[in-house]
Amino acid sequence: MIEERKEEIVIIGGGLAGASAACILASAGRPALLIERDAKPRHKVCGEFLSIEAQTFLTHLGIDLDALGASRISDLRLVRRGNMTEVRLPFVARGLSRMILDEALLQQARSQGARIVRGQAVRRISADPSHGRIDVAAGDPISADTVFLATGKHDVRGMKRASAGAMGDVIGFKMHYDLAKEQRQALKGAVEVVLFSGGYAGLQMVEHDVANLCLVVSRQGFEQVGKSWGALLDRITGECPHLAERLQGALPGFERALSIFQIPYGFLHAQDPNEPQGLFRLGDQVGVIPSFTGEGMSIALHSGCLAASTFLAHGRASSIFHHRIRSDTRRSIRLASILNHAVRHAAGQRAVFHVCRIWPAAMRHATTLTRVQEASIERALFAP
Ligand SMILES: Cc1cc2nc3c(=O)[nH]c(=O)nc-3n(C[C@H](O)[C@H](O)[C@H](O)COP(=O)(O)OP(=O)(O)OC[C@H]3O[C@@H](n4cnc5c(N)ncnc54)[C@H](O)[C@@H]3O)c2cc1C
Repeated sequence: MIEERKEEIVIIGGGLAGASAACILASAGRPALLIERDAKPRHKVCGEFLSIEAQTFLTHLGIDLDALGASRISDLRLVRRGNMTEVRLPFVARGLSRMILDEALLQQARSQGARIVRGQAVRRISADPSHGRIDVAAGDPISADTVFLATGKHDVRGMKRASAGAMGDVIGFKMHYDLAKEQRQALKGAVEVVLFSGGYAGLQMVEHDVANLCLVVSRQGFEQVGKSWGALLDRITGECPHLAERLQGALPGFERALSIFQIPYGFLHAQDPNEPQGLFRLGDQVGVIPSFTGEGMSIALHSGCLAASTFLAHGRASSIFHHRIRSDTRRSIRLASILNHAVRHAAGQRAVFHVCRIWPAAMRHATTLTRVQEASIERALFAP
């Protein structure tokens, strides 16, 4: 008979949500076991734009973005076809690749006492509410009092997110580039959001003078170009001379673009009476905000910190956490989803660009409106 291991707290997934929860728990003297599927750090599909809220969480968790070489971003440029409009951001954003950031946070959790197992995927979770135990199948079975589920967009059998699977017809791509010198200079200090037929892209510098191009496109738009990254890029640069100029002479950083399919933008976990107490859903498992807001990492960190501090104050009562995180993020996710719908369609793009051109401050207002409120961030960090 296989021996069942018993653990007080298991965190599944070592992205920003899982690692931030691990840091808070360990620093309060409640170290968890964190299980991460990837054996080594890897690049993830992400615009790598760190909002001021994400920076607040990272600083609180002891991450020094300057020491990691993060770029500084003060301006937002909106580009459509041959036109561009620009505005100063209401804060200085940072750019840092997820490969570096996620690893730094995992190492921080480890240095504070979290036990981290890498290269092991959790295959299934089952719960026995009457005994208050949650079983985790990863290598040898583990029986845990409390589970923090932080597997990002990947669902685990037995605890799939209700409705998320049906929501996503969007595909995300990411490619790093070594830009030509004059293009690197021109891009420095700005994030450029490019609207194109069926989607949008973000271009900005991250650490070591590397540029990150991240874009989302509808599944249909990708199928129309024969499901080829090269053909997709040709179509977008053909439509947008500004992006074509930026990428002129650029060297790609990866052999092929990274991709992620079926992103369930707008998903927000609803309290499920069948889910057991002691199961905390974090990050993309609890809500998925459209990428152009650059707020997904902040929500992941917010949920990790709030879940850990709620657990420290109220134990396994995960319904308290789920109620709070839903009310903290609902407005931002809803508003961002409406804007996301607009910027993915031609008429909406035209209208959004027109408004931003005659009133550039609208871009600044939009970045503020889609952010989680400061008071909620304070609560996640300091007062459960
Ligand atoms: C196209 C795109 C662009 C984006 N751009 C930005 C941006 O510019 N700024 C921003 O703030 N946000 C952005 N986001 C959002 C942001 O990337 C996510 O919200 C954030 O990564 C969520 O963090 P997480 O910890 O929940 O998940 P993840 O970062 O996905 O981490 C989940 C972890 O769980 C592990 N895992 C998965 N399954 C298992 C398993 N079965 N067992 C063990 N481990 C497992 C994975 O390996 C991974 O390390 C973007 C998202 C997309 C799709």
